[in-house]
Amino acid sequence: MHQSFERALDLFYPRRCPVCDGIVPAFEIRDGRIKKAGLIHRKCHRKIEYVRGATCVKCGKPLRDSTAEYCDDCRRTPHSFDRGFSVFVYRSISGSIYRFKYMGRQEYAAFYGRATEKLLGRKLRSLGIETIVPVPMYPGKEKKRGYNQAAVYARAVSARIGIPVREDLVMRVRNTAPMKELDARGRRNNLKKAFIIPKNDVKFKCVLIIDDIYTTGSTIDEIAHEFRVAGVEKIYCLTLAIGQTT
Ligand SMILES: [Zn+2]
Ligand SMILES: [Zn+2]
Repeated sequence: MHQSFERALDLFYPRRCPVCDGIVPAFEIRDGRIKKAGLIHRKCHRKIEYVRGATCVKCGKPLRDSTAEYCDDCRRTPHSFDRGFSVFVYRSISGSIYRFKYMGRQEYAAFYGRATEKLLGRKLRSLGIETIVPVPMYPGKEKKRGYNQAAVYARAVSARIGIPVREDLVMRVRNTAPMKELDARGRRNNLKKAFIIPKNDVKFKCVLIIDDIYTTGSTIDEIAHEFRVAGVEKIYCLTLAIGQTT
């Protein structure tokens, strides 16, 4: 959506803060002047933890031991993607993502997109990414929920970094069981053949897969594997939030 139009809408439908879910006024008085307010309360912004400092060179998880190259998970399990990036430390934003996912708060994507650009925009633009691909939802499930949160986030990132989104490259052909109760192996089995690339000729050499949360990376691995088979050479992934290694 055009930014100024989006701003005009703010007057009629005030935005909610992605941290506390309270209203963020469209304008605020600062230093005696009327200024455009942000997408989040300033005091709430301080509660969020960004992924900074030493991260795993594979999945992008923050590392406790800053001399290590890989996290414990990536040392044990090979991944099909080349490199992962994340914006927030999961526990500092879990409530926000829950509402984004299950309670219709698609508007949070504006803040998520801006935060992503601020933290990773330069990096992402430098990688030669040709298209952004959100992790698809099973069609029936998406219809029920009304939107795919990964796609909503992907569009917000796309608008910020200027790389187009393609939602038709990958299809989810199996409705998979909820992953929460499954261990890493269970997750992998659960996802076998869940995704297909309907066109046998993918014209892209470098893609960015986007999802909301990175846990074991198994969902992204399945899609990355399909892209690999289809001849894509560089596969990056970006998630809104990621856990910390223990
Ligand atoms: Zn707030
Ligand atoms: Zn890792």
